[in-house]
Amino acid sequence: MTSEIIKEILKCIPEGKISDVNFEGANIVLYTKKKDFFLDNGGIIKGIVDTIKKRIELRPDPSICMEQEKAEKTIKKLMPEEAKLGNIIFDVQRSIVIIESEKPGMAIGKDGELLQEIKKKTLWVPIIRRTPTIRSQLIENIREVLYQNNDYRRKFLHKTGERIYNGWLRRQKKEEWIRITYLGSAREVGRSCLLLQTPESRVLLDCGINAGADSQEEMYPYLEAPEFNISQLDAVIVSHAHLDHSALIPYLFKFGYRGPVYCTPPTRDMMALLQLDFVKIQREDGKEPIYTSDDVKEMVKHTITLEYDEVADVTPDVRITLYNAGHILGSAMVHLHIGNGLHNLLYSADTKYAKTSMLSPAITQFPRLETLLIESTYGGKDNVMPPTTEADELLGKMIGETIERRGKVLIPVLGSGRAQEIIVLLERLIREKKVPDVPIYVDGMVWDITAIHTAYPEYLNNDVRQQIFTRDNNPFLMPNIKRIGSQKERQQLLEETGSCVVLATSGMLVGGPSVQYFKALANNERNTLIFSSYQAEGSLGSRIQRGEKEFVFRNGSGNEVVSVKMEVVKLEITGHSDRKELMNFVYKCNPRPKRILINHGENSRALNLASSLHNQYKIETLAPRNLDAIRIK
Ligand SMILES: [Zn+2]
Repeated sequence: MTSEIIKEILKCIPEGKISDVNFEGANIVLYTKKKDFFLDNGGIIKGIVDTIKKRIELRPDPSICMEQEKAEKTIKKLMPEEAKLGNIIFDVQRSIVIIESEKPGMAIGKDGELLQEIKKKTLWVPIIRRTPTIRSQLIENIREVLYQNNDYRRKFLHKTGERIYNGWLRRQKKEEWIRITYLGSAREVGRSCLLLQTPESRVLLDCGINAGADSQEEMYPYLEAPEFNISQLDAVIVSHAHLDHSALIPYLFKFGYRGPVYCTPPTRDMMALLQLDFVKIQREDGKEPIYTSDDVKEMVKHTITLEYDEVADVTPDVRITLYNAGHILGSAMVHLHIGNGLHNLLYSADTKYAKTSMLSPAITQFPRLETLLIESTYGGKDNVMPPTTEADELLGKMIGETIERRGKVLIPVLGSGRAQEIIVLLERLIREKKVPDVPIYVDGMVWDITAIHTAYPEYLNNDVRQQIFTRDNNPFLMPNIKRIGSQKERQQLLEETGSCVVLATSGMLVGGPSVQYFKALANNERNTLIFSSYQAEGSLGSRIQRGEKEFVFRNGSGNEVVSVKMEVVKLEITGHSDRKELMNFVYKCNPRPKRILINHGENSRALNLASSLHNQYKIETLAPRNLDAIRIK
């Protein structure tokens, strides 16, 4: 059955030009066997795009593409040496050739002229992809999953498009309403999971766990809620890679979900890494993992990436745009345009409304906005942090003092976010001679996440981009950084007498190598433990922070007692907006929302932020509880 929108499009193109039409998600792809029409369609396609306001792409029919071997030679001949080509991968069914390059700017050429040349000579559609500067087996695996399943991807993307355009001409007729159900993260930090429903759509916003929870029930979102039915789910949107937002996406695939997952490219790569690590940690703890690496692979196969500011239909009545959230690499606020101009909603997820050493602040300008869903991790009236520069200085000072007394610094990190912020900061402090030149050990997962940062420098703030592109001084490649990849290397590092800085997961000392470092370093007053991220109630990290001095770990059959003599420092530094920044963010939001729903914060903080926003800005606010369903419209 040809969809109505395709019939409409074909009416505008001279007969015989188009050999096939396919959806790729919300994008419509036309194939032609006519070489001349492919290279110059005389503005016909642009005309259609302007009328129907959908993205349309014209590609050569696979039958007219140049033979692969010959095309590869041609591409290599056209590309300048400086582009430093990596793999050249042909996606045969889609007539696309993916060209990996260390310097994409060089590969694209001035005004894209090299791409035009490749198109003309080979009749393939070239796409340039940045080769990560740090090689990582995991990133290569993710890309391989995508390349190897081209055939399946093509069918999946087409099916997704059919769902989006199903009833395209008729859709305005229905009665419209919108409701949101909090399946998690209401008046708590962790297990973010919101269900958006309209007469046409069921969309899940995030699906994470609460890592610090004591019981299974408190760890997972309420997926057994009556509103949630996995077989009716149309789309999943992931704001960012942190496990409290993304850990359970593969779990949905385990239970049969086969629809699209939308997120930015860095989020796709990072969440896959963190999920695989999550599986590994469960195994190491002697538990049966709740899903396997196959489910993660299935998720990657069904992920559709969107850049910031790119508009995409995800169902017949929901159109999304991802905006920079300033929280971690690729983190997004999700703007949802619902119905035929009915309502505009922004799900902020985790935001940072301030420039950090690595990222730009969250965006506050939107085309339209009526309802804002905002986090409140640091929303309490006392949660005012010192300016980041002050925290940066303190970090430098703590590291300096520890090095002076020949100790080691342990910084437990979430893997993504803080760790890379600290690397960028340390590179600067060392370059400015504010911190002595010591080795920085980056343990397993943190290394891989850092590698992903080198694949997406366009997502970093202006300063770091300049540093990488103009001055050729990539902070992630500084010689001090050393990777710790095995138990043996970890042991060696701990036996060495010299000073060093260690960045290791997990951030709250709940599983992962950071616990091992803590056990080995705790007993020596020369060493320093620096907390730089949120410590959930009940986690080992929060107990240490509260001043507990003795801990008992189960060790095989016996018990291991660890007493804390090392210096413990809590840095007032966070990838979240603090109280002041949250208030500022709302103040700067343009347009100003008419209603604000508050989540992702402890009970008192969520309530406190709700009442302050109401008092100060006269905006209707609400801090829902888990399982509350709110009718938005
Ligand atoms: Zn987060």
